[in-house]
Amino acid sequence: MGSFLGVVSDRYKEDLPIWDKSVIGGPPGGETSRSRCEYCGTKLRWFELIPILSFFLQKGRCLTCGRKLSFRYPLIEIATGLVFVFVPVGLKNIYLVEPIPYTSSFIWILVFSFIFLASLIDFRLRIIPDEIVVALTILGIFATAIQPFSATEGSFLGNYGLIFGIRGNVWLNHFSAALIAAIFFALIILVTKGKGMGGGDVKLAAAMGLIFGWPDILLIVILSFVIGSLFGIAAIALKREKLKSLVPFGPFLFVSSILVFFFGNEILRFYFGLFGL
Ligand SMILES: [Zn+2]
Repeated sequence: MGSFLGVVSDRYKEDLPIWDKSVIGGPPGGETSRSRCEYCGTKLRWFELIPILSFFLQKGRCLTCGRKLSFRYPLIEIATGLVFVFVPVGLKNIYLVEPIPYTSSFIWILVFSFIFLASLIDFRLRIIPDEIVVALTILGIFATAIQPFSATEGSFLGNYGLIFGIRGNVWLNHFSAALIAAIFFALIILVTKGKGMGGGDVKLAAAMGLIFGWPDILLIVILSFVIGSLFGIAAIALKREKLKSLVPFGPFLFVSSILVFFFGNEILRFYFGLFGL
């Protein structure tokens, strides 16, 4: 899956649907199926296509031309692998009773795969494909329908979910979260006159609001701005970016959603602990 996400994020073009065979790969043996070396164009043989392993065995170089390959691919593969393995563990934060249903693990693995793919494409092209937002919205409806929801269950923030939100009806909660996230990002676009965010960020944030619900989406948005600012300051200090240049926001939303999913409760406990609360 990680290898597939890397390929799709690499081949995606703005004017093609994401399921086009030039993006997801055509029939076996076809012109669009096999990955090629980005430098010499040689079709990769089967042993050059084993995720993570091939990269390290080949010492990060193409076997044909010897050029250095991007570290992006093994990194994406490792990140995806970690998400897949640990999602069921993270779900313990909202399911207080065991065992964790397979359906939930399956849906959340898809959720993070799509958010990750959106952030990879956003990083490369500064766009978030609508197809991914639609897929995430559908997953959000499923996630809302099957998740536990009570005063103490259903929020990744643990008991802090009670301080920041009124936990009433599960659908009202998740749809309000989507609406609040969309309005918040739309306001930023209005205030910055489109220099800070794009329409893709509004749609992605809304879909994530539907998936995570309130108040979890609040912490995701706050964290993404904190991480984004730190990254921006570092980039400007290192003179990699100018103050005005558009930084893709999708990757920050992805990282924050991972942090909230796995450590939402711990992050808030640490934060309030700073004030002795
Ligand atoms: Zn090569």
